[in-house]
Amino acid sequence: MNKKDYYEVLGLSKSATQDEIKSAYRKLAKKYHPDISKEPDAEAKFKEVQEAYAVLSDENKRKQYDQFGHAAFDQMNGTGGFGGGFSGFGGFDDVDLGDIFGSMFGSSFGFGRDTASRRERGSDSILRMHLSFDEAVFGCDKEITIDVSEECEDCDGKGGHGEKTCPDCHGSGTITQEQRTILGSFLTKTTCTTCNGKGKVYERTCSTCRGRGIVKKTKTLVVKVPSGVDNGNQLRLAGKGNAGRNGGPNGDLYIEFSVDTHPFYIRDNDDIHLEVPLTLSEAILGCKKEIPTLYGNVTVNIPAGTSNGDKQRLRGKGIDNKSSRHKGDMYIIMKVIIPQRLSKDQKKLIEELAKTDLEDGMIRKFNQFVEKN
Ligand SMILES: [Zn+2]
Ligand SMILES: [Zn+2]
Repeated sequence: MNKKDYYEVLGLSKSATQDEIKSAYRKLAKKYHPDISKEPDAEAKFKEVQEAYAVLSDENKRKQYDQFGHAAFDQMNGTGGFGGGFSGFGGFDDVDLGDIFGSMFGSSFGFGRDTASRRERGSDSILRMHLSFDEAVFGCDKEITIDVSEECEDCDGKGGHGEKTCPDCHGSGTITQEQRTILGSFLTKTTCTTCNGKGKVYERTCSTCRGRGIVKKTKTLVVKVPSGVDNGNQLRLAGKGNAGRNGGPNGDLYIEFSVDTHPFYIRDNDDIHLEVPLTLSEAILGCKKEIPTLYGNVTVNIPAGTSNGDKQRLRGKGIDNKSSRHKGDMYIIMKVIIPQRLSKDQKKLIEELAKTDLEDGMIRKFNQFVEKN
């Protein structure tokens, strides 16, 4: 980017005084003001002049500029610097030009027209979706109804029909006014209220969108929920959020899931835990047990002498998570149920059992500890 020297822009020497800078600026700002100037590249020239003045009228910035040239500001402002249009001045967060100049720069640096016609990305929206345990585990297609704002089809988002150049601002989107101050008179630029800075007006306001260019619509979408989503997970549907402005892209739609718990399965990410109740005799003697998994029942061998809390892993019987491409396991946890009530016969049998030596290593060790204590 070959930028003109700021002194050259204002037609001054490097030793110019602040008064000389001000007066050169005033003269040139009037000469190139895009609303009055007949010169073909008036707007570009006007911008150059404003830039040059913003720097040279500030002693600090002027010093930096004298030392480093344009690079001083390119580095400071990252990519933008002063470049790219009026809004480039946004990078200049400390234009302190005093009270008198403040109002003038506030409006003439113009966020007016640029803002009104700038392409703007639409906002994101979020929708909470409730899923049953199975829907989350296996994935599903879910129909949703969303309220979205979309560009009005009837007017192509323009807000009206029969486009005309705005009669008040002649298409520039801004209104120039002369302002008298003790330093002389200045031209200030404000956004045209007739066309809201668009530079265009319409013979008829669009009745569908009442001139907003955007309509609210209720839409039905089918969302493919991938298998394995969990509570709080979000799914992003790119471009399904709200409409952008002036041809800007749509925002995104985020779907946040809340998932029901299951009466038996406990979910641990992609793993499933299941407590399996065993009778006393099943635990002692061992057994074959039907275990309900996500993929149907399987028969599992429970070894003799199974204790409460013993675990077995059923590999690959957890959740087949399509998002993480990970298949979880299932863990079955044995829960030996001690009967609360016994029949007379049962009690007799247990008493018989008690007469025998049921001690195993752990009980023996504990008893030795009790004796020594
Ligand atoms: Zn206008
Ligand atoms: Zn419309």
